Amino acid sequence: MDPSTITTPPATSFDPQSLRADFPILLQKAASGEPLAYLDNAASTQRPRQVIDAISDCYQRYYANVHRGIHTLSESSTDRYEQARRSVSVFLNAASSDEVLFAAGTTAAINTVARTWGDQNVGRGDVILLTMMEHHANIVPWHQLAERVGCEVVFAPLNDNGQVDQQQLDALWQQHGSRIKLFAFTAVSNVLGTINPVQQWVRQAQQHGARTLVDAAQTAPHMAIDVQAWQPDFLVFSGHKLCGPTGIGVLYGRRELLESMPPFLGGGAMIQSVTTEGFAPAELPDKFEAGTPPITEAIGLGAAIDYLTDIGLERIHRHEVNLTQHAHALLADVPGVRLIGPQDPADKSGIVSFAIEGVHAHDIAQWMDTRGIAVRAGHHCAMPLHKSLGLSSSTRASFYLYNTMDEVERFVEAVREVRAKFAPQGRRRRRRS
Ligand code: PMP
Repeated sequence: MDPSTITTPPATSFDPQSLRADFPILLQKAASGEPLAYLDNAASTQRPRQVIDAISDCYQRYYANVHRGIHTLSESSTDRYEQARRSVSVFLNAASSDEVLFAAGTTAAINTVARTWGDQNVGRGDVILLTMMEHHANIVPWHQLAERVGCEVVFAPLNDNGQVDQQQLDALWQQHGSRIKLFAFTAVSNVLGTINPVQQWVRQAQQHGARTLVDAAQTAPHMAIDVQAWQPDFLVFSGHKLCGPTGIGVLYGRRELLESMPPFLGGGAMIQSVTTEGFAPAELPDKFEAGTPPITEAIGLGAAIDYLTDIGLERIHRHEVNLTQHAHALLADVPGVRLIGPQDPADKSGIVSFAIEGVHAHDIAQWMDTRGIAVRAGHHCAMPLHKSLGLSSSTRASFYLYNTMDEVERFVEAVREVRAKFAPQGRRRRRRS
């Protein structure tokens, strides 16, 4: 299933207020005395009690190192660790949980692919195709690969609506043809919120004999993923963006590719045997999980996935689109606000990024903080994107299942205040009135 083809139930069946009770951190008041409006979910989400309890339960009742022990605790933690892998496998609709590798996060997963598959399969004159909306985690490892092997990194440009221009993308495939070894792209932009046509792009890459890597860091928390339908070669995401712990993420890879790739990190757990002359790697998935893995983090990730699955990703997505719709409609009445990314909320996830002429993004975020509203300001690890937009920074509000219409209204009211206080036009207007 493509993210853009998701059908969603009516918003009325979704009650963020009752979900907030699951998130202890959201019960606090901000320094301003107002309830905390946490709108920085694209950077990292908060954790529900169900995840906190799963982590605490592991440490309090059955924690031990996995895989190596014969004693009861080790068997219990191994069972739970492998159960988490199975939960991820079902979550992605993978053909087998052997295709699910735990990594430290999206960044670590992409670097693993670049250092293993990339070093093995990409050479001088080859092309790695990216889009202009990539996060640095999906740019820098390919620049590093280019430094090592002499390949070229090419970026597909965007149109004025913050989407990849399909005609220009087609032209890049025509121009570079079979020199393109990999198309690595984000399924959802962390700045623009743009939802990309994953399935269509994977098919296009397949027609040219190229591999695909899908950065699902901003997708997995919000929309159902189906790797058997989408057919990417690799797909990656981070636990902390979907209510799970930090330090854990997923590298999904198609079995035959993972089997053909050399291991990345060497050490304990990833071997079948070691001699003074060399080593034989273990089977999947152990081959790519050297050393003691993030055990409690994986178990926490499993609990987060269970939590979100129980609520339903389609319902979460619908709720976020409703919040975004409300934010767009209200912001349309605030002069001087430049919304970046798709103008139609139906084309995006719950991310609203904007700039106000003459006002620095940091001033906007700081003002919002005084109002108890947490948003992010800066380049959001997407400097090439900002350069292409003619901006050095932007301010981003990003929604999740626990955000409410009331928070959206507080956010837009704060945008109004910022503009009146900081923008040259706003100040002039205030003086005149
Ligand atoms: N890709 C995208 C689209 C992201 O939003 C992020 C996190 N902002 C990353 C990659 C990197 O994720 P992490 O920092 O968890 O490795």
